Amino acid sequence: CGIVGIIGQGPVASSLVDALKRLEYRGYDSAGVATLENGHLERRRAEGKLRNLDALLQQKPLRGRIGIGHTRWATHGRPTENNAHPHATNKLAVVHNGIIENFRELRAELVAQGHEFVTQTDTEAVAHLVTEQINQGLSPVDAVAASLPRLKGAFALGMLFDGEEDLLIGARRGAPLAVGYGEGGEMYLGSDALALAAFTDTITYLEDGDWVILRRGFAEFRDESNRVVQRAKLKTQASA
Ligand code: GLU
Repeated sequence: CGIVGIIGQGPVASSLVDALKRLEYRGYDSAGVATLENGHLERRRAEGKLRNLDALLQQKPLRGRIGIGHTRWATHGRPTENNAHPHATNKLAVVHNGIIENFRELRAELVAQGHEFVTQTDTEAVAHLVTEQINQGLSPVDAVAASLPRLKGAFALGMLFDGEEDLLIGARRGAPLAVGYGEGGEMYLGSDALALAAFTDTITYLEDGDWVILRRGFAEFRDESNRVVQRAKLKTQASA
């Protein structure tokens, strides 16, 4: 029930977990993070409290400088480690709050195209949908642009791509999402300003239907029709 993302200067795993702790008030049953280790997606996920994820990261650290994190409140699929986010293919990892209403249709279509599903979640359909577009030759950005119109439901999404050390994508429809700006070009994604309060007091809220392309020191907002739009930067009152 919380999303975070960081394009950082140094390792981001512990900052991702810290930001998730600020979203604990929303409730959750499991949690996870994904980063790029030497350019490749790696995940750590755990049932239960964030201290379980913390303990796992102690045992098996992640050192990536870009990553996404999630606290889950299960709607589709039991709250197991395997159903915990991020969900991943060999192309991308995705975190999701909300519900993809048409996941059964998408899943059937993608299975027919040869995709193998390994969880009971609605979210996994998003991972495979975007992967299919990338497999057909689209860039990650164009793959997301092609995929978002196919999703029904209310959601916020965060995506991290294999081999892309300088790219995070966020999207919102009927669930909140904010972008934060660090002093040294670090970029943040979070469910709310509170999640980002330890990192920055300068944020932009996505408007409903918006999605955002984040790179170091750069954010491009697009609306539901894939038009580039300007969204205001605000100073928050939230304090670390
Ligand atoms: N529907 C997704 C799931 O059950 C996301 C739930 C959430 O908002 O945390 O995995």
